Amino acid sequence: MEMQGQEITMVKPLKDYYQRLRDVDILRVAEALGIAVLNMRTAGNRTLCPLHGDKVPSLSFKANQFRCFGCGEKGSTLDLVQKVKGLPLEETAEWFGLRFGLSPPWKKARPRSAARNALSLPAPRRKEIASPKPTMATLSHEKKILPEYFSIYEALLRLLPEGSGAEWIKSRGFSGDTAEGYRIRKIKHPVRTLSLLRQRFPDKLLLASGVAVKRKEENLSLLWGAEWMLLPIEGVGENAGRIIFLQGRTPIPEGKPEYVEILGGFPRPLFWTRKAKNTPRGEELFLTAGMMDARAAEELGYPAVAVLGAQGLTDEIIRTLLPWTVKIGAGKAPPGRNFAVTAAERFDTMGKRASIVDFPAGVKDWNGYLLRRRRSR
Ligand SMILES: [Zn+2]
Repeated sequence: MEMQGQEITMVKPLKDYYQRLRDVDILRVAEALGIAVLNMRTAGNRTLCPLHGDKVPSLSFKANQFRCFGCGEKGSTLDLVQKVKGLPLEETAEWFGLRFGLSPPWKKARPRSAARNALSLPAPRRKEIASPKPTMATLSHEKKILPEYFSIYEALLRLLPEGSGAEWIKSRGFSGDTAEGYRIRKIKHPVRTLSLLRQRFPDKLLLASGVAVKRKEENLSLLWGAEWMLLPIEGVGENAGRIIFLQGRTPIPEGKPEYVEILGGFPRPLFWTRKAKNTPRGEELFLTAGMMDARAAEELGYPAVAVLGAQGLTDEIIRTLLPWTVKIGAGKAPPGRNFAVTAAERFDTMGKRASIVDFPAGVKDWNGYLLRRRRSR
């Protein structure tokens, strides 16, 4: 069964701004408000309500709404922020603008947040469009990843056994080629691996490169633990063939956070699949919000690139992609949907129309699409 381009259709970005705020994943909103949501699954799906003197967890989330069984408050993401922060509607919208890149239409420019891992998106700015070429994204307000770190990333990958990523990658519907083609490896012995790295590189460099951390009172440790999958990003242009970034993927299926990247406040580069690297300018390029999504799209026959999460979409990356016909596909769930709508708007402010891809019925994202194709074989 072949699934090619015609099955993916285009839809218009949603126009109802407030509806988009209601569609933001309520758990992410709660998290941004400082409400503990991490272990809710094991705590009867309830957490302490910040709206009353809650002693026993009585706040629950369902169908992207909140409800407190203690004080009776309930409502949408908008209501939650208004009530917890005590803000009027307009200021609530601006709160969302800062954290989720969903600035209200009355705001001309979005405030820029330099904080890494903040939930906000960088501001869209009208600028002269520089001649774009696929290079590693670097922003002046962020720290640069230095080429001397690349040797550390390469050395780390070489210490992990070949083929160790195959099992995980196949369990997600991918072919074994994807594991080795992208050098996805599993970390088996973090302590030994780090001590081998320390024989070759000074601690200072290992810390600066983001692969090692020094927690209080502790010795150096590898950023990721045993059983984590390591997903490398290979550079393009002048950095072709070099590992320029590493992202770890948790071994716990429901684990949060799911992905942990090298620490150091580095800009997150754009990930190019092999198929995308060979796609001439002017042709279709699919923009996704995660490396595994882009790889799934590639296995389905679509040339895809990925930013690492919504925050990874910088103006520089947008400029890099301007020469292609960009189609944005990040899944049907609200976070992916919001990413696509916001990204399309930001392409628009740079004078480029980017369309949003809609997935076939019963498919929620690229990996789901890939799994369905595998099953139908
Ligand atoms: Zn309450």
